[in-house]
This record gives sequence, C-alpha cells and structure tokens, in this order.
Amino acid sequence: MTLPGLPEGVTDPCVHCGFCLPSCASYRVLGTEMDSPRGRIHALKAIEAGELQLDVTVAQHFDSCLGCLACVTACPSGVRYDQLIEATRPKLNAPELRTPVQRAFRRLLFALLPYPQRLRAVLRPLRAYAGTPLQALVRRSGFTRLFGPQLEAMERLLPPLAPEAFRDDFPQVVPAVGERRARVGLVLGCVQRLFDPAVNRAALEVLSANGIEVVIPQQQGCCGAATHHQGELRQTRELASALVKSFEAVGPLDAVLVAASGCGHTLKHYGSILAEEPGWAERGSRFATQVQDAHEFLSRLGLSEAFQVRLAPLSHADGTAASAERPLAVAYHDACHMLHGQGIREQPRQLLRQIPHLRVKEAVEAGVCCGSAGIYNLVQPMEAAELGRIKAADLAGTGAALAVSANIGCTLQIRQHMAGQEQPLPVLHPLELLQRSWQAGTSEP
Ligand code: SF4
Ligand code: SF4
Repeated sequence: MTLPGLPEGVTDPCVHCGFCLPSCASYRVLGTEMDSPRGRIHALKAIEAGELQLDVTVAQHFDSCLGCLACVTACPSGVRYDQLIEATRPKLNAPELRTPVQRAFRRLLFALLPYPQRLRAVLRPLRAYAGTPLQALVRRSGFTRLFGPQLEAMERLLPPLAPEAFRDDFPQVVPAVGERRARVGLVLGCVQRLFDPAVNRAALEVLSANGIEVVIPQQQGCCGAATHHQGELRQTRELASALVKSFEAVGPLDAVLVAASGCGHTLKHYGSILAEEPGWAERGSRFATQVQDAHEFLSRLGLSEAFQVRLAPLSHADGTAASAERPLAVAYHDACHMLHGQGIREQPRQLLRQIPHLRVKEAVEAGVCCGSAGIYNLVQPMEAAELGRIKAADLAGTGAALAVSANIGCTLQIRQHMAGQEQPLPVLHPLELLQRSWQAGTSEP
C-alpha cells in the first residue's frame, strides 16, 4: 500500500545501506537517524504499514529536511527521494501539524516573497537601515532576538538594498551584439531582482555580448520555487501558469534562461507541476522543455569568439591584475538545486576557466547544502545557521580570494555567514565575473 500522493513503490529500492547519510545536511547538524534520508524512508514505510502516525513529532523530522537532494546523488540504489519528499511536503502543511505561530509566519512569507511589488513595499522603508552602521549596531546588540528566531533570521539575511531593486526598468528586448546566434527569454526571479539586481544585469550583458537576443516579458512574476519547495501546490500552480502565460506572449524563443538555480529547478518541473491543471498540462511541459540554466545554455552554445578575445584578467583585492605567476583563485559553491537537482556541475566551472588567470578552487564539502534551501533558513534558523557557518568556513578555507555562487538563496546565506569568518570572502555570481572580465577587456585600448 502507498500513502495517498506518494508515487507507487517509491520507497521500495531503499536497502537501508546508509550511503546517503554522510551527504545529508540535516543529519550532519542534527545527528539523528530520523533526520536522515534513511530514517525518513523508514518512517514512511512504517506509516504505510499503519505502524506510525504522521503526527507533530514525525512531521518535524520531515520539516528538518532541506530538500537539497544530495541523497539522490549519493544513493547507489537509485532511490528517488526527490519524488518522495515532494509528495510528502503538502501533507506537512496540515493545520494540526504546525503551531498557529508557524502557520502565520509561513502565510506571511508566502504572501510576500513571490510578489516583488509587495516585497518592495515592505522593503522600501528599510533602505535607510539595511547595510548601514545602524544595522550592524542592532545585530551586535542582539535586539532582534526579542522578536524570536524566525524574525531574527529574516533580519540577518537582509542585505544592503540597491536603488535598482525598486524598479523594473529592463527593456522588453535587449538586442544581440553582432550577429544574432539565439533568441532567449530571461526569468528574473523575484528574490534575485530585489536582493541582488546586479546578477540579472550581468546575465543580460554577457548574453547580449555573446550574440544572444534576450527577451524579458514585462509581466513576469515569481516562478513559484519557494512555494513549490514547501508543498504549497495551489499557489505554485497559479504562479507557474501566470509565468508561462507571460513568456508565451513574447513569441518563439530558442530557450528560457534563468540565472538562479533554485528557480531553474522548479521551472524545469512545470510539466509535472501543471500536469493536473485543466488546460495547462501541455503548455507546462512545453515551457519546461525550453528552460535552461544560463550557464548550461552558454556552455552548450559556446562563448562567441568576439566575447572570448575581450576577456581580460580580473584584479586582486589590492588592485593588481591576476597573472600567470599570481592567478586569482575563486572558490566555487555548488548550489544543491543546480548540482543535485539539475546535474549541472562542469558548465559554470568551464565558463569561469575561460577568464584569463582565474583558478577555480574546490571546497572540501562541495556537495553539502549551505542551509539556505528556499525558506529553510527562515523556518529552521538554528539548523540553517549551523550549515551556513560550515559552508562559509569551507569556502574560506580554500584560500581563494572570492567565492562564487549561482543561486541567490545560497549567495545571501553564504554572505551572511562569511561575516563570521576571520578572512571573509566576497560572494559573486559566475556571470558577474564573466561580465567584469569582459568589461575589463572592452575598456582596454
Ligand atoms: S536512500 Fe539509498 S543510500 Fe540511503 S539508505 Fe536507502 S538505499 Fe542506502
Ligand atoms: S534532501 Fe538533503 S536534507 Fe533532505 S534527506 Fe536528502 S540529503 Fe538530507
């Protein structure tokens, strides 16, 4: 017998070998079998057999899962834990499994995060605070602790807010420089466009300079990644269908690109997300087949010759240009939804290596989650903070001059925890490095 909603036989291939345990982020910080993939699979089997109830205690062990999918990569038996946790998440949202405070906090997050205009309205008054000495003082004083761990976690993630975060001023079409090699759409991502707007600008400049025309549907909203990750299916379907509609309106595209891998993972699942939505199954699948991570697309197409010849060495912190004798070392962070969720590992590294005198350094625990995981660092702040510290220390320990991350959630989380490192590294997006290298080469006489 299978739990309603769980794919038939999804737990069967598990032989309880435990090979997935060392890669599991929740097991790493909680250390209990029930907070490991094997423990959760065992619990699901017991629920199926009628030996265990999905009560508050059991639900907490599923809530502790980051959905990072490292266990899927690690499992030699091919257990599809991704399908298992995706089917389980909606059941965890039953009102009796959460406290009124937890429910209210989640409602607040889902009423804000997927709606850039609402988020902007809330963030606008905070511009005078975020990134200022006042914020540093408030953090040091521990004042935000008075409001509980969740609100404290929100405050700690709040980055300085750039003026561009408060306007959508991209043109509908950014033309290709030189001969047009492709026409693509770009998903801006709602958190990314607010908290790190420089990334989309870098993506546009790099794509266009590589002969790629970029279309930016002006009506596009959120892709639904945060709600999808938390099993909020109705809202995810609404967001997904609206996004598909906005891209259908701009005419034929060679691909739909995204520079935030958390979003990319959800976008590639629109086929299954919209499968049961009347009239949307085919449109969802068609859209999903067009989606590519920006690095995946650029790597497949290849950087144009005109772009490559313009790539110049980046500078060290002291202003001297990287050289063969003194290359610039960057620590690459693998976002889980890129590595484990989409199987993309080599492409961003391969693009970065085309920057002269840049050396990609590998973290020791590259495959372990940083603790961001959608809204995990807001709803499970203790576990997330521990993982964030481990990740920041791991990246800083490479001895690199900076870290790169291709997912906005990871970037915010790692930046936050880098602050606690003896030698904190700046964290940038790989496309920002390509942009800077190209700009440096373009400004050369
Ligand atoms: S999920 Fe895979 S790796 Fe983990 S215990 Fe089961 S069979 Fe072993
Ligand atoms: S998804 Fe990540 S946190 Fe969840 S069980 Fe798998 S490895 Fe552990």
